[in-house]
Amino acid sequence: MLSRRFFATAVKEVTHVSDVVIVGGGPAGLTMAAAIKSSHILKDLQCTLVESSDMCRSLQDYCDDPPERILNRCVSITPATVEHMKQLAAWKFVRPDRIQNYDYIRTYDGLTNASMDFDSPNLATMIENSNIQSSLYQRILELNSEQPLNQLVLKDNTKVTGITRDSKTNWPIVKLSNGDTIKTRLLIGCDGGRSPVRKFAGIESRGWAYNTWGIVGTLKYKNTGFRSPTGWQRFLPTGPLAQLPLPDSWLSIVWSVPPELAMILMSLSDKSFISILNAASRLSQDELNYLYKIARDEPEKLQDEVNWRLQVFNNKLTADQEEKYPLEVDYIVPKSRGRFPLKLSHADDYVDERIALVGDAAHTTHPLAGQGLNMGQADIQSLVKTLETARERGLDYGTKFALEPYFSTRYPANHVMLGVVDKIHKIYSAKFPPLVWARSLGVNVLNNLPLLKDLIVGQVSHRKMP
Ligand SMILES: Cc1cc2nc3c(=O)[nH]c(=O)nc-3n(C[C@H](O)[C@H](O)[C@H](O)COP(=O)(O)OP(=O)(O)OC[C@H]3O[C@@H](n4cnc5c(N)ncnc54)[C@H](O)[C@@H]3O)c2cc1C
Repeated sequence: MLSRRFFATAVKEVTHVSDVVIVGGGPAGLTMAAAIKSSHILKDLQCTLVESSDMCRSLQDYCDDPPERILNRCVSITPATVEHMKQLAAWKFVRPDRIQNYDYIRTYDGLTNASMDFDSPNLATMIENSNIQSSLYQRILELNSEQPLNQLVLKDNTKVTGITRDSKTNWPIVKLSNGDTIKTRLLIGCDGGRSPVRKFAGIESRGWAYNTWGIVGTLKYKNTGFRSPTGWQRFLPTGPLAQLPLPDSWLSIVWSVPPELAMILMSLSDKSFISILNAASRLSQDELNYLYKIARDEPEKLQDEVNWRLQVFNNKLTADQEEKYPLEVDYIVPKSRGRFPLKLSHADDYVDERIALVGDAAHTTHPLAGQGLNMGQADIQSLVKTLETARERGLDYGTKFALEPYFSTRYPANHVMLGVVDKIHKIYSAKFPPLVWARSLGVNVLNNLPLLKDLIVGQVSHRKMP
């Protein structure tokens, strides 16, 4: 928690003034910066981006990484997000050897096996967060060289340590860890779920923790046979296990589990973790519960326990049934396992006088539908349009009045998405037999209604349907 003192720090002397200050160099902050500097209506604004991490060096290093070192923070992005990055001329800098398009996703119920398949050309693209950030960073460098008089100022390794307001103009004054202070007409918080900018503005954020951790990792299938790249999601009562395709039989996982199970899974050796992951994509919940106990109490026995159970299970499968499960995983990149707490949160407002919130600073969601970053991209498109309109009309773009259309456009859309994802999470967490039966019946019916499924795909991928 940030103390009140964070915001109350007295500013002796303002060292810089900037039309716009963006806090955060994550996917949202870098996209926001590239979008402002690409807009013929906004590009002359003096714009500064502040990021606490060693961003520029790590994004530069990313470009020279060997192809096999795919990082563990990957996201599934929609065609709308790809299109946005193309419009910003950032997509040309994406490393193509480290992305994977996929047309097909299969979801199946861990208790009943009821399944739903989504099949649509270019359904989504898997990409590392760093690939997104690095491409935007390179685009910003390109824009800076094209527009030497309108360069974006990038301040990485620099933390925002305090925010206050100018007593005369009411403009935000941002205090930085290097001792500088910047007064700004518009402060944009792209500073993630714990957003200091949101706290400074006193904007309430509502929601709840899912009491769940998302375990991520980069792994490799034993062989991919002739299968086309497919996304898999098994809804277990402990939380969904998603296996998403990367190039050359690599895959990225997000396995959502309660904290106690997360501790066990994180403590396993790489080989034992692979065993239990393969078990979790096929075996029954009763068997998994038993295996989780073995993993906790006698981890040295886990691989043998899993192997014979999987052998029994696999021997019963016909070739057709085999296709309904992901292939066996046999390698994990050492140290690629990581875990993240999962939370639903939604800010009551996205704007205040001279403040706008974007991306995770405004909302966070469960990753089961792969929407968080995509929602942030849609926020940016809306905020840029709002700023452009304000400027064209000769308004002061930093006022709450001018910023209001951004909030009124994005809040309802995000609210619906957050609600839908939360409901899916709740429905699939249920173990009560009548509910499990009802959800499986619903899924089976829905799976046979292609038009309705196309509609869902269209909504989730933000595509206009024919
Ligand atoms: C396990 C998992 C899987 C996910 N999968 C998907 C997916 O498949 N598809 C999808 O669309 N989304 C997915 N998401 C969500 C997605 O990762 C986030 O929505 C997205 O990364 C948020 O980007 P952001 O730029 O808003 O925030 P962040 O990435 O959190 O960036 C915030 C930045 O602000 C900086 N910052 C914070 N405070 C300060 C300060 N005081 N001073 C300076 N800098 C500061 C931080 O250093 C950071 O770089 C997933 C999330 C998780 C946890």
